[in-house]
Amino acid sequence: MLTRRSFIELSAAGALAAAANRDANVPWYRRALRWGQTNITERDPVRYDIPWWREYWKRTAIQGVIINAGGIVAYYPSKFPLQHRAEFLNGRDLYGELVAAARADGLAVVARMDSNRTAEDFFQTHPSWFARRKSGEPYRAEDKYVTCINSAYYDEYLPDVLREIIERSHPDGFADNSWSGLPRTNICYCENCAKKFKDTAGSELPAGKDWTSQTYRKWIEWNYKRRLEVWDLNNKTTKAAGGEHCIWMGMNSGSITAESGSFRDLKEICVRSEMLLLDHQSRTETTGFQQNGDAGKLVHGLLGWNKLAPESMALYQAPSHTGEMSFRVASKPPAEARMWMVEGIAGGIQPWWHHVGAYHEDRRMYHTAEPVFQWHKKYEQYLVNRQPIAAVGVVWSQRNTDYFGRDEAGALVDLPYRGMTQALIKARIPYVPVNADHIARDADQFAALILPNVGALSDAQCSSIRDFVNKGGGLLATGASSLYDEWGDSRRDFALADLFGAHAPGPEFGRHAAQAVHSYLRLSPELRGQVWGPKAEGEPVSGSRTTGTKRPVRSSGQRHAVLRGFEETDILPFGGTLEKMRLDAGVIVPLTFVPPFPIYPPETAWMRDPKTDIPGLVLNKRTVYLAADIDARYGRDNLPDHAQLLANLVRWVAADRMPLEVTGPGLLDCHLYKQDERVILHLVNLSNEAAWRAPIDEFIPVGPIRVRVKLPGRGTVRSARGLVSGAAIAVAVSNGWASFEVKSILDHEVIVVG
Ligand SMILES: [Zn+2]
Repeated sequence: MLTRRSFIELSAAGALAAAANRDANVPWYRRALRWGQTNITERDPVRYDIPWWREYWKRTAIQGVIINAGGIVAYYPSKFPLQHRAEFLNGRDLYGELVAAARADGLAVVARMDSNRTAEDFFQTHPSWFARRKSGEPYRAEDKYVTCINSAYYDEYLPDVLREIIERSHPDGFADNSWSGLPRTNICYCENCAKKFKDTAGSELPAGKDWTSQTYRKWIEWNYKRRLEVWDLNNKTTKAAGGEHCIWMGMNSGSITAESGSFRDLKEICVRSEMLLLDHQSRTETTGFQQNGDAGKLVHGLLGWNKLAPESMALYQAPSHTGEMSFRVASKPPAEARMWMVEGIAGGIQPWWHHVGAYHEDRRMYHTAEPVFQWHKKYEQYLVNRQPIAAVGVVWSQRNTDYFGRDEAGALVDLPYRGMTQALIKARIPYVPVNADHIARDADQFAALILPNVGALSDAQCSSIRDFVNKGGGLLATGASSLYDEWGDSRRDFALADLFGAHAPGPEFGRHAAQAVHSYLRLSPELRGQVWGPKAEGEPVSGSRTTGTKRPVRSSGQRHAVLRGFEETDILPFGGTLEKMRLDAGVIVPLTFVPPFPIYPPETAWMRDPKTDIPGLVLNKRTVYLAADIDARYGRDNLPDHAQLLANLVRWVAADRMPLEVTGPGLLDCHLYKQDERVILHLVNLSNEAAWRAPIDEFIPVGPIRVRVKLPGRGTVRSARGLVSGAAIAVAVSNGWASFEVKSILDHEVIVVG
């Protein structure tokens, strides 16, 4: 039996293991938890105050730096004459000086490349290394020329530059900012591409975008493969020249749609990576801070939770919120920058401050990182090497983004995912993203899986979902989930129709994003008791009291549990359209479709077809099929009814097997982990004065917050501590659950139980 004393000893052993992690025998990419980057501008060689920045490195407790070396601009005297020197470099080796300073301070050094374009002299010397339009014109970016990923620039020239940098300064590893060549929106018709594609695919390059064309699909796959080849070649080069731990890391986005648009296969990249560098600097207005917590969990699901994923976090006003201006040298409001960091840390991301330029007249940005980074240093042992605890897995795949999302991935893939996960966050239901290829590996830990309009699923992926359900798991699927195969071709019916108890209305169902219309969903009429309100059309009017009376309603039944909280309404706003679909015997239909009717003028706003038998929601054993795209609607319209309905459905398919209950005011993003025998709970307070729009400028505390958490293992815990407040928290343990109260949360709190 595990006594209190042996538990303390176990915890001490865990702390020792964390300390050993910092041992010099552990490779740098497992040790360096906090990072910094001063992204050097061409002007900086004449104004880079290295002693000041070394002090800043210390104040922010970073363990690694990313230093600009070469590529578009070189910060050292390269032997390659065409590698453009920084305009103010004047023969200096600024990169080498910074490497020496970082070494003297005991920091890991990552040499930064930015490799996808060059100045004109390079283009004139090697015209066959550059990407071309169909007309033969080179692709250009302002005054620079864009290199072709299939050219010798990537196969020969860049490896030589990497070797030169290793010879000069022996960095621990490399980063590359824009390593993956032209995006999917641009087809390169250069002679290299034409020849290589013909050798591989046996045909000419596609004339343009056509998702149904075999040639275009081959071109997509060929492009993905080439990025992985470049990844492997660069790693082979740096390891051969710099040793086994000298790894090369292209930057990646936490957005799968961005990865798809750049042919970066995040799952395959993670398989190849000892560390993942995320270029994902700030929120957008539509995704919120919570997207960073989601990204952290998503990449660790691919990478493993024992590896690190530092993320470049901008301390300047950038990149923009939705379409607003970037200000490269103005401070981001500290609350905005801090909340992005805190959410990333909650999702398992390592912080990495990022300044553009080595000199700033807006010095406020120098005060933002320090408190977060010092806090991170103090409690780092609790912030790495842990495993998420979640009741539900939200399924995603990059192929779904590619071949189901196609040109509408934002609306067909991202929006339902975002609406679904936001509903989970609002309901304080801990979840993790699960790659569709990892369902068999990961799903045992979940009570339920969610398919938020995951249209494209392979037969194998569908089998793993079916296995999960057959073993007693719950399933919530929405929209077109499983109707399409891994190429986005229609199957004519849902592959999981047997689980849904519902059949696709047509082969192209859900192919395109639906327009917003003035439609509703009708709740099943069963309702016990009486309602208060005016009589309905057709109901007999008795005496003169026609309103304000309580009266019995249509049925003595009771509404289904998934409609909890909607007792005082018979309809819900919807906004989408639905079609008739065939249902299997025995299913329950708690919501039906009310077709659109006019909004304007008000005189016309009455339901033409108040009742239909078109299903909006179908329950079949512990599987829920939500035909109505409420997840996407919630992502778009942010209606609390939609969030509540989604939360009800998730709780029902999960049979209420939730590991966490959090009660109290506010929008809290809850991330739950286990580490040895302890439980670690991040509560990120997203309730703030920027409910209108970004950026936030002030934190508003919430509390008290009551927490109940299911304890893993033997449940003998007696104490807890808040890592932000520093306060001990009294815990009551009963039946394997710990209960406690958090008095107040400003930006976030992290509670270690045990
Ligand atoms: Zn090309």
